[in-house]
Amino acid sequence: MHQHMTKNNVSATRLVDQFSRTITYLRLSLTDRCNLRCLYCMPQEEIDRHDQVKTGRFLEHSELLSYEELLRVVRLAVSLGMNKLRLTGGEPLVRKGVLDFIQALFQIDGLSEVRLTTNGVLLEEYASRLFQAGVRQLNVSLDTLEEEKFARITGRSYFDKVWRGLFAAKELGFKIKINVVAMRGINDDEFLDFGRLALREPFQVRFIEFMPVGEKSSWDRQHFIGSDEIMERIASLGTLTPFKKRHGEGPARMFELSAPDGQRGAVGFISPISHHFCDQCNRLRLTSEGRLRACLLNDRETDLKRLLRGGASDEELVAEIRQTILDKPQGHSLNTAVVRQPCSGQMSRIGG
Ligand code: SAM
Ligand code: SF4
Repeated sequence: MHQHMTKNNVSATRLVDQFSRTITYLRLSLTDRCNLRCLYCMPQEEIDRHDQVKTGRFLEHSELLSYEELLRVVRLAVSLGMNKLRLTGGEPLVRKGVLDFIQALFQIDGLSEVRLTTNGVLLEEYASRLFQAGVRQLNVSLDTLEEEKFARITGRSYFDKVWRGLFAAKELGFKIKINVVAMRGINDDEFLDFGRLALREPFQVRFIEFMPVGEKSSWDRQHFIGSDEIMERIASLGTLTPFKKRHGEGPARMFELSAPDGQRGAVGFISPISHHFCDQCNRLRLTSEGRLRACLLNDRETDLKRLLRGGASDEELVAEIRQTILDKPQGHSLNTAVVRQPCSGQMSRIGG
């Protein structure tokens, strides 16, 4: 394909993969570090012989892409037609200088939205500055509404902090989605409470199927619960009416929940296992160590950091981005009957 290169617009051709999916959405994992230790995400802490707490190995600062490097990649991606950016991690808010970085992102021509996925621990502290910087949408991960269970799932007693952060953000006017990883025997007794939260507050509550990812993932069949079953349970609270799917709205199947007393709320179901949405996938990921990854559940990655640090030109980087997109797998093979080859990359490094 002939590409016309100009200084500010490396190529006007859209990014389309070989299965005709247009790639418009870039997810950046800013760090693999986190202030929580969710049992399904982080390698578990171990106490060694000398009573030292160890948590696997985190990347050194020099192994992460610098903010300058990240800005360069985002500028190129935007010039190629990507217009939606999500910052994730690890916990994006624990990386030093993240607010300045977000401000710099908003200076990029053609990038209209920067969204953030956070565990909410630092939200109370950061919410107003994030809003001032221009962020309007937050995804907050919260798997339980019970303080003690929160500590069991995340390894830290920060439930109150997250709860305050959530409401501080709401007061400021953020649009908030709450992501709940659904785990049978762990938080399935709270699905209705989450449904009621969606009725009571302007939060979209989205249930995510528990995925077998990560080297030491705590995933097992026993804890998996499919979206259809969750939906049935939520339906006991009221009527579920599907939202009209808007283009680019992401993989959640969204519904309006209307309760008999007239309360209304929005709930969604993200079903990577039971209802693959690979045919609509518009995403590209950049891991915290600078590898481009075309599929969350496929370990194939392109080492962009090596190119960036080896003096690659914009044209070379663009060619690499295009190639990664061309090689984007058609789909993944996880299903409810057999789980083959859980991907080995850590979730915190890839960013979920
Ligand atoms: N620290 C931030 C947070 O927790 O929101 C951002 C990174 S976290 C890796 C991104 C999302 O991935 C979170 O919503 C988390 O619940 C989800 N996640 C992590 N491991 C998962 C798994 N095994 N199955 C389903 N979702 C998972
Ligand atoms: Fe941290 Fe998010 Fe992973 Fe939990 S899911 S350990 S909050 S990165």
